[in-house]
Amino acid sequence: MPVKKYPIRMCIACRNREPQHTLIRIQFESGQVMPYRGFGRSSYICRSCSQDSKRIKQLSKRFRIQEDVLVKLLKECTTDG
Ligand SMILES: [Zn+2]
Repeated sequence: MPVKKYPIRMCIACRNREPQHTLIRIQFESGQVMPYRGFGRSSYICRSCSQDSKRIKQLSKRFRIQEDVLVKLLKECTTDG
């Protein structure tokens, strides 16, 4: 039986490894957070962390970004499809 291979990426919040397509891809740059733009370094967050306010708070501290900005971004990333 052929084994389907998915790229595996690590969630930056909980460090669980998940198939890339199930993760939310974002980008931290110059003290800001944004959806991944196709170049540069990207980071991944899993769906459960994207809805976990504790994790989001930790991440916002770690990357020195505003918590509400991160919450808004994750919400946008999870509702568009
Ligand atoms: Zn996670």
